[in-house]
Amino acid sequence: MPRTVKTMGQQFGRRSWAEPWKIKMVEPIRLLSREERERALREAGYNTFLLRSEDVYIDLLTDSGTGAMSDRQWAGIMLGDEAYAGSRNFYHLEEAVRTYYGYRYVVPTHQGRGAEHLLSQAVIKPGQYVPGNMYFTTTRLHQELAGGIFEDVIIDEAHDPTNLHPFKGDVDLDKLESLIRRVGAENIAYVSLAGTVNMAGGQPVSMGNVRALRELCDRYGIRIYLDATRMMENAFFIQEREEGYADKSIAEILKEFCSYTDGAWMSAKKDNLVNIGGWLAVNDRELFDTLRNMVVVYEGLHTYGGMSGRDMEALAIGIEEAVQDDYVRARVGQVRYLGDLLDNWDIPFVKPVGGHGIFLDAKRFYPHIPQDQFPAQTLAAELYRESGVRSMERGIVSAGRDPKTGDHRRPALELTRLAIPRRVYTQAHMDVVAEAIKAVYDAREQAKGLRMVYEPKYLRFFQARFEPIE
Ligand SMILES: *Cc1c(COP(=O)(O)O)cnc(C)c1O
Repeated sequence: MPRTVKTMGQQFGRRSWAEPWKIKMVEPIRLLSREERERALREAGYNTFLLRSEDVYIDLLTDSGTGAMSDRQWAGIMLGDEAYAGSRNFYHLEEAVRTYYGYRYVVPTHQGRGAEHLLSQAVIKPGQYVPGNMYFTTTRLHQELAGGIFEDVIIDEAHDPTNLHPFKGDVDLDKLESLIRRVGAENIAYVSLAGTVNMAGGQPVSMGNVRALRELCDRYGIRIYLDATRMMENAFFIQEREEGYADKSIAEILKEFCSYTDGAWMSAKKDNLVNIGGWLAVNDRELFDTLRNMVVVYEGLHTYGGMSGRDMEALAIGIEEAVQDDYVRARVGQVRYLGDLLDNWDIPFVKPVGGHGIFLDAKRFYPHIPQDQFPAQTLAAELYRESGVRSMERGIVSAGRDPKTGDHRRPALELTRLAIPRRVYTQAHMDVVAEAIKAVYDAREQAKGLRMVYEPKYLRFFQARFEPIE
């Protein structure tokens, strides 16, 4: 049985922890006046994705590509070998993926969705099911565009923002097995496993669960592909919470976890600490040959896949920096620091605190706003209006429409995500963010919902526009 969740105080002892780096270069930021923020919000159609970055004070829209690179990574930029074919930086990247993730064959891509596209097209036959531990926006879309049918097999606890289960990312093996029995193993393309689970609030998968998943899938001859985007953070939670892992390093835990899967795709813009990049890695030689052939059609040659040589060098170095225990501890520690501040004021958010951000529970924040009036979108807009802090919607807008019925998908979780970029903001920024959220919370009863006035066909949350309901 997994141990219960430790508080930050228990984990780090009574003394303070600090980031294992210091700042060498700074980028000025500024706060617009309230009138300017009102105008910017109106012009952006109340969608934080449509704000200009210059109009944002503290930017917690996403942790994707927004991290700070180290001096070693910047030095690596100067070592870019910009050869069309066979760049030495590719071989460095390949070696880093093999060393730390343990997969045999590596295909570089421009970012995560490039890898999702290749894998989905290569292994999903139209009409096949793709079970996964909660959906992710781009992942599910690529699976659907390849003719797949996504089926959520995450444990029920993941859909409850107040449930303190230590591994809310776990696959419900009974749900998965009953799907396999219902449709037949030959109609399952693969299991789409994500660690940590972004849409559930950055919640981890336990080692016990992936091991049992491997056994189940072996019995039916089904493959497991891993969305490794935030696996370093997942490894940290295993180290902290799972029996037998307290003395293992993040690197050891990561490699063991990956060993139970058949391959992985990666948005390197997240925990590989670069501003752009991605990769896909598999153990099957035949599949690798297919993917390596497809990459030249959609991304670029198989030794750059849409990245420049310098991008690949920074990525190879980033992989190694991101598996360091002190780095991951400080990373998750900062997210928890913000969570602890909000907890003091009883502000509702997803618990336990996940790996990459705080997910405000908009249903409990704005109980008077019906889901069809987009409470999480409203909260993101109100937070920007109040403070210049940018967050994003992870609720009904992000969930999109059911491809069959055309109706909104109505997820149980209606969340506003504050994603913390890696190595970018200080504790003082977190204090400011917490106070901004408190101010919006105090004014919660006056808030009114939104109406969607423009809706794009794919991934609508990026470009949809709204108007306030008066
Ligand atoms: C960001 C993300 C992706 C997609 O990667 P991009 O680099 O944005 O294309 C896939 N899965 C998860 C869990 C992500 O967070």
